[in-house]
Amino acid sequence: SVTIYYQKDCDMGLLKGKKICVLGYGSQGRAHANNLHDSGLDVTVALREGSATFQRVQDDGLKAAPVAQAVAQADLVCFLLPDQVQADVYNAVVAPNLKKGAAILFAHGFNIHYGQIVPPADVDVLMVAPKGPGKLVRDLYVAGQGVPCLIAIHQDASGKAKDLGLAYAAGIGGARAGVIETSFKEETETDLFGEQAVLCGGLTALMKAGFETLVDAGYAPEMAYFECINEMKLIVDLIYQGGMTNMRRFISDTAKFGDVTRGPRVIDDYVRQNMEEILTEIQNGEFAREWILENKANRPVFNALLRADEAHEMEEVGARLRSMMNWL
Ligand code: NDP
Ligand code: MG
Ligand code: MG
Repeated sequence: SVTIYYQKDCDMGLLKGKKICVLGYGSQGRAHANNLHDSGLDVTVALREGSATFQRVQDDGLKAAPVAQAVAQADLVCFLLPDQVQADVYNAVVAPNLKKGAAILFAHGFNIHYGQIVPPADVDVLMVAPKGPGKLVRDLYVAGQGVPCLIAIHQDASGKAKDLGLAYAAGIGGARAGVIETSFKEETETDLFGEQAVLCGGLTALMKAGFETLVDAGYAPEMAYFECINEMKLIVDLIYQGGMTNMRRFISDTAKFGDVTRGPRVIDDYVRQNMEEILTEIQNGEFAREWILENKANRPVFNALLRADEAHEMEEVGARLRSMMNWL
């Protein structure tokens, strides 16, 4: 079973007097930078030259600087940029300016695990990854709570990398909830699998297949949208609050019987095999190669697939029905 660290295991003092450079001010960057700052730590947000976000950082009361300048002074450099730009930014601006003895931190393991960023051996390389979106990381911190985090160490040059990561987890509020120890490999592979097979890919494909099955059988698209897409939230909220058992307390016996007898026929052995294949492609680097090359080619396949789904009937019907729901 996993090791979980809490506030008492973290010494935020390790980061006092150190300069923290937060690269990027998007979902995670904004939350981490503000939480660290409110924890009394010295944070500079690093942005590309000319970015409109400089003003936003200043409005939030934080320091901002161009990437090269912020990195050159930093004791800890945090990669809170989109994963697909991290390697270019690392090679062009971070590596040439990195101070001796500085540490590098990630919120997702992709670029280290798949060898897109290869830091020198004398640098600490660690991960602190909140298991929630940036807005929640910030809102819970302000409320005196925190989002559970993962911690992983890729390189421990100083012998203090884990303590540094725990200090950071405390600084962003994650240690208030708990910090689970993992590895770059485990975090990267499980994160990719979850989003591909279940959370994003599996979920949207399941809803779309259900919608199309009803519409193809002659039912009204409006009915199909409510049944197969809109009502997902009610079910997921109940599972989120109390697991499958809790959810089943709120649905009818008829729904429950259909659930336990038909569900396994939808997600059958064939689907399991597909899941295993998808996991294998994550483990053997095939998915990473495809995604990296897709970006280098300016995303032709990615854009075409997104456009096709945006033009799907379920999106048009959904937009019409949501306009009837003025609470959304
Ligand atoms: P975002 O897409 O929100 O990051 C946007 C920020 O990156 C902006 O400030 C943008 O600058 C900056 N940026 C983009 N391209 C460049 C570039 N070429 N040079 C310099 N700055 C650039 O990222 P996320 O917060 O979603 O993700 C950050 C990391 O956190 C990733 O590793 C991700 O996997 C991980 N993560 C994300 C989670 C999430 O909820 N989103 C959850 C857990 C982990 P500008 O302001 O100038 O446009
Ligand atoms: Mg994830
Ligand atoms: Mg992910």
